Amino acid sequence: MVGSQPQQSIESLDNNGHYSRQWSIEDSEELYRIHGWGDPYFGINAAGHVTVSPQGDRGGSLDLHELVEALKKRNLELPLLLRFPDILEDRIERINACFAKAIARYNYPGVYRGVFPVKCNQQRHVIEDLVRFGNRHQFGLEAGSKPELLVALATLKTSGALLICNGYKDRSYIETAVLATRLGHRPIVVLEQPEEVDLAIAVSQQLGIQPVLGVRAKLQARGIGRWGGSSGDRAKFGLNVSEIVATVQRLRDAEMLDCLQLLHYHIGSQISCISAIKDAIREASQIYVELAQLGANMKYLDVGGGLAVDYDGSKTNFYASKNYNMQNYANDIVAEVKEACEEKNQPAPTLISESGRAIASHHSVLVFDVLGSSDAPSDVPPLSENKEHLILRNLRETYASIHEENFQEAYHDAIQFKDEATSLFSFGYLSITERAKAEQLYWACCRKVHDIVRDRDDIPKELKDLEKTLASIYYMNLSIFQSAPDSWAIDQLFPILPIHRLHEEPTRRVTLADLTCDSDGKIDRFIDRLNAKSILELHPLERNQPYYLGMFLVGAYQEIMGNLHNLFGDTNAVHIHLTPNGYQIEHLVKGDTMTDVLQYVEYDAEDMLESIRKSSEAALQAGKISIEESQRLLQNYERSLRSYTYLS
Ligand SMILES: *Cc1c(COP(=O)(O)O)cnc(C)c1O
Repeated sequence: MVGSQPQQSIESLDNNGHYSRQWSIEDSEELYRIHGWGDPYFGINAAGHVTVSPQGDRGGSLDLHELVEALKKRNLELPLLLRFPDILEDRIERINACFAKAIARYNYPGVYRGVFPVKCNQQRHVIEDLVRFGNRHQFGLEAGSKPELLVALATLKTSGALLICNGYKDRSYIETAVLATRLGHRPIVVLEQPEEVDLAIAVSQQLGIQPVLGVRAKLQARGIGRWGGSSGDRAKFGLNVSEIVATVQRLRDAEMLDCLQLLHYHIGSQISCISAIKDAIREASQIYVELAQLGANMKYLDVGGGLAVDYDGSKTNFYASKNYNMQNYANDIVAEVKEACEEKNQPAPTLISESGRAIASHHSVLVFDVLGSSDAPSDVPPLSENKEHLILRNLRETYASIHEENFQEAYHDAIQFKDEATSLFSFGYLSITERAKAEQLYWACCRKVHDIVRDRDDIPKELKDLEKTLASIYYMNLSIFQSAPDSWAIDQLFPILPIHRLHEEPTRRVTLADLTCDSDGKIDRFIDRLNAKSILELHPLERNQPYYLGMFLVGAYQEIMGNLHNLFGDTNAVHIHLTPNGYQIEHLVKGDTMTDVLQYVEYDAEDMLESIRKSSEAALQAGKISIEESQRLLQNYERSLRSYTYLS
């Protein structure tokens, strides 16, 4: 199709006789900011489809729309979570390359040994892939709980890779970690609470194994934003400076000061501002050298997570963005640590980072379809033959009068008349048909006012919400609570755009609503150049044509934080690996069936079916249902139990 027609000139006359530019894929690129957040993995091709380049600039690309169509032919229903393990590999390569470059640049006399925090995406295939891709770099894992420790112990096979043991620990956690040394693992038990110090000493004495210990410091340097509370005096985890000094003393008394080899901190996730990262590493470097001077056998400095993802592509310190890149991050860490160690004549530590978001976010894309839309009415209702009620005449007059100079005043009039119409209706002076007309006229006024103000820079405050009020609602075949919980819980912004029709102008302004019966199940904030915008530009729906949207950068945290609101379950997930001739489906993880989700809440599908069978048998006996109806009901019920929780 594309390219079969002669290229039209860029300027042409539209229906209203205005000159208008043809919409191009470059316009879509700019509108959806795909280069900002998507490079080098996502782009748009000449067919107007989103492309995925799982190996970044090193490999070929896939047409996401074609991929989804092909998966649908294999009976994989939407919503679909697409995972691209090649992207994970590229991220691991990138972070190692950035640290290697920084180490060379500053002549740093130490190495980098990253770990992946399991909590960020515990899915088995993801962790197994990360371990495999990280092998060349001796990339390890970080566990934040006992179950995550079990995952790490079973999965991490890389010799020399570190296993950082964080989180709340009881005796069995510490014992398991310490005993794993005997299997060749390199666990480091990070003491985060004062009580853990004695526990670690006791376990070590009882087992007769010298563990490698670390301390997590509560820094004064703070990450700003959502997770700012992860550091500072009131932080949930970590030891303050006096507790660290007491820990050193305690370990010295137990003749275990040699075991203390690591300093860890984590000032929060998605640190959008490089200055916060610098402040933290500066403070931590000093604590590190001081610990060495106190006699601890210091070897590792673990800077935690926090390396941010640029969700809106703005490269600013807005919370959905970051004002630095991975290389800046590595440079600042390496340079600061080197300087602090040189000054105090201490050997440089092995540097560890626990980046989760920055490794995992890009590799998953959620693709879903739009089921339908609802639009705010905006047509002016036709005049009645009889004389209309005064309130309707007032509204018509207001509508006719709206122009550049009086739109604000006219808008207030329209609101007032609409309110009056509602009161008149409540007291029985206006029929329901008349009230409907009044509301229609009100909407028409709103739209006319909005058309005047929409492209102005100085939209009056009270008119700012008009955009949202007038937007259409597109219904997504999706549960926000299951698939993008952070969008609901913490206003996280994810890039969302159609994966096709990108050479067409998206003329509708919409907000999105999900399948749940929860009014919170919506998305009405979207990425923009500055801050967020309240509408998303999408294409008009076409009858009997599917319309697919993609939500991007959802590979970190979303899956495990998702919940079963309204019993919408896990989506189908497909792992796609790029091959020289196209792609290969590596794993297919089927989403929950209704039987699965019902089981979580202790229902037994067989019992439920039996109960329906009994009632339909009784209805049959009583002559209330025909045999055909009862068969049909039972078949529907049974089929539903076996099928996907989303709409087909
Ligand atoms: C959550 C967490 C991380 C991962 O943080 P990201 O911002 O996703 O990189 C790392 N370390 C600790 C201790 C954490 O709690």
